[in-house]
Amino acid sequence: MTNFDSIIIGAGISGLYQLHKCRDELNLKTLAIEEGTDIGGTWYWNRYPGARCDSESHTYGYTFSKKIYKNWTWKEKFPNQATILKYLKYVEKKLNLRKDILFNNKIISAKYLERKNLWQVKTNKNKVLFCKYLICAVGSLSAANIPKLRGLNKYEGKYYHTGRWPKKSVNLKDQVVAQIGTGSSGIQVAPEIAKVVKKLVIFQRTPNYSIPARNKKLTKEFIINFKKDYEKIKKLLKKTPGGHTFSFPNRSVFDFNNMERNKIYEKAWIKGSLAFRACFGDITKNIKANKTASNFIEKKILKIVKDKKVAKILTNFDHPFTSKRPTLNTNYYETFNKKNVQLVDLKSNPIIKITKKGIKTKKNNFIFDKIIFATGYDALTGPLLSLKLVGKNQTKLKDLWSKKPKTYLGIMIPKFPNLFIVQGPGSPSVLTNVPVQIEQHVEWITNCLRFLESKKKKSIETSLSSAKKWSSEIKKLADASLFMKAKSSWYKGDNIPGKPKVFIPYPGGLPRYRNICNKVEINQYKEFLIK
Ligand SMILES: Cc1cc2nc3c(=O)[nH]c(=O)nc-3n(C[C@H](O)[C@H](O)[C@H](O)COP(=O)(O)OP(=O)(O)OC[C@H]3O[C@@H](n4cnc5c(N)ncnc54)[C@H](O)[C@@H]3O)c2cc1C
Repeated sequence: MTNFDSIIIGAGISGLYQLHKCRDELNLKTLAIEEGTDIGGTWYWNRYPGARCDSESHTYGYTFSKKIYKNWTWKEKFPNQATILKYLKYVEKKLNLRKDILFNNKIISAKYLERKNLWQVKTNKNKVLFCKYLICAVGSLSAANIPKLRGLNKYEGKYYHTGRWPKKSVNLKDQVVAQIGTGSSGIQVAPEIAKVVKKLVIFQRTPNYSIPARNKKLTKEFIINFKKDYEKIKKLLKKTPGGHTFSFPNRSVFDFNNMERNKIYEKAWIKGSLAFRACFGDITKNIKANKTASNFIEKKILKIVKDKKVAKILTNFDHPFTSKRPTLNTNYYETFNKKNVQLVDLKSNPIIKITKKGIKTKKNNFIFDKIIFATGYDALTGPLLSLKLVGKNQTKLKDLWSKKPKTYLGIMIPKFPNLFIVQGPGSPSVLTNVPVQIEQHVEWITNCLRFLESKKKKSIETSLSSAKKWSSEIKKLADASLFMKAKSSWYKGDNIPGKPKVFIPYPGGLPRYRNICNKVEINQYKEFLIK
C-alpha cells in the first residue's frame, strides 16, 4: 500500500504551488499526479497557434516569492503559450518539484475510506494510492468539450480541440479547414491559421465582443519598474475585484456626454487590454451604461469588417458586453476581410451532421481536410466530476451535484472530508486573473492543513447547510449582476447539454471573497465538522 499524507491532482499553476506548500512548508509526504507528460496544465495542453494569455504578463504568475518574481523577465505584454510554459518550468526547477510528480497518470476514481480516514485514488495506469488529504488542482478549464455531433466518428479527416492540441505541429498549410467556435480560443486561433490555410470556414453560434490586445514588447524601463515594484504590484493584485492591476473607477458613463464618453472609449480601444471594461465603473453593473460600451464595440466591428453581411453576423449579439468571458484579439475581425476566410452563421444555417468528408449544414455541404473545435470546456465542474469521487456514506459527487454544484467557498464539498479544491465551483476562479485566486486558495488550504496537523485532528468536513448558504450567496450576487443577462454562457453551464443551469463561479470579487475566507480561518474553521 502506497501511502501519502497528501495527494494533489494536477500539475498546473495550482498543483505546483500546492505541492511546494505541502511538501516544503508543512513537511507532508506529498505526491502530485498529472495526466499530461509534463507540467503546465492549461499551458501544456493549449498549444494551438495563437494561444496567448489575456492577463498582463507581469501579473500572470506567482507572487509568493520575491526571488522567483524578480528573477524572471517577461518580455511581452501578453505572453504566449510557449513563454508561460517556460516560466512554469523555471519555477518548477527553482522549487525542485518534478521529483514528486507522477506524470502520464490520469485519476479515474477516488473514494473516501471512512474507517481508515484515507482517500483511495486510482489511475488509468492501474496505480492505487492512498492519502489523508486529497487536493484537486484539476483546473477549471481543463475538461475539453467536443460537442456530440452526429457523424463525427465517421469523419475521415483529422480533428482537433484547441485545448488538447498535439505536441507535434499540425500541418495546416494549403488545407481546407473548418473552425467551430468563436470564444476566447477561437478568436485567437482564427487569425493565425488563416495565414497558412487554403481556406478557413469559421462556424459561429454566438458572436463575442472582443477588444484589441495590442500586444507589444515591454520596454526596458517597464521591466525594471515591474521588478522594482514587486511589493506594490503584489498588494494591488489583492485589492482589485478581478486580481488585475486595474480597478473600476467611480466615474459613471452618465457623468459624460456622448462625445466625452466616446473619447474615453476610443483611448481605451487604442490602448487595448481587458482594462477596456474599466473605462467606467458602471459598464459591468448597469445595463444602460453597458449599452454604451456594447454599441461602441459594435460600431468598431462594423467599421473593420468590409463585407456588410459578415459584419452583421459578427455583431448579432444576444448578450451585453462582459456578461460572458471578455476576450482579447489580434486581428480577429480583420481576418474576415481575407479572401480565404468564410463565416457561417449557425443561427440561420445550423450543423446537421459531420459527414465522412466534412460538415453538412442546413444550407450547405462543406468538404474539409481538418476540423478544429474551439468549443471550450465543461467548465469548473467537469474536471471534478470526471474524478468519479465517492465521499462519506458512499455519496457520489455526481449525485450530490445533480441539481447544482454544492461547495462551501468553492473549496470544500459536504460529505467529502479532507478533500480540497483549488479554484473550484463557487470560487471567483474564472472571473479573475486566475493565478491571484490560485495563490489565495493554496495558502488558505495550506493554513487549514497546518491547523489540522498541529491540533492532531483526523478530518475536516463542511456541512450541507454551509454549502446551501454559500449557493444562496452566489445566486443573490449573480442575480444582481449582468452575468444573468447572457442568453447562454458557460458561466451558467449552458454549453453542456444536461448540465445544471446555475451560475457557477462566485461573482462578488476577490477582496470580498478573501475577507470571507480569512474570517473562516481566524475563527478556526468553527463552521466545519472537525474530528
Ligand atoms: C486557452 C486558455 C486561456 C486562458 N487565459 C487565461 C488568462 O489570460 N488569464 C487567466 O487568468 N487565466 C486564463 N486561463 C485560465 C487558466 O486555466 C488559469 O489561468 C490557470 O492556468 C489554471 O491553472 P490550474 O493549475 O488551476 O489548472 P490547469 O492549468 O487547468 O491544470 C490542471 C491540471 O490538472 C490535470 N488534471 C485534470 N484532471 C486530472 C486527472 N483526472 N488526473 C490527472 N491529472 C488531471 C490536467 O491535465 C492539468 O494539467 C486560460 C485558460 C485557457 C484554457
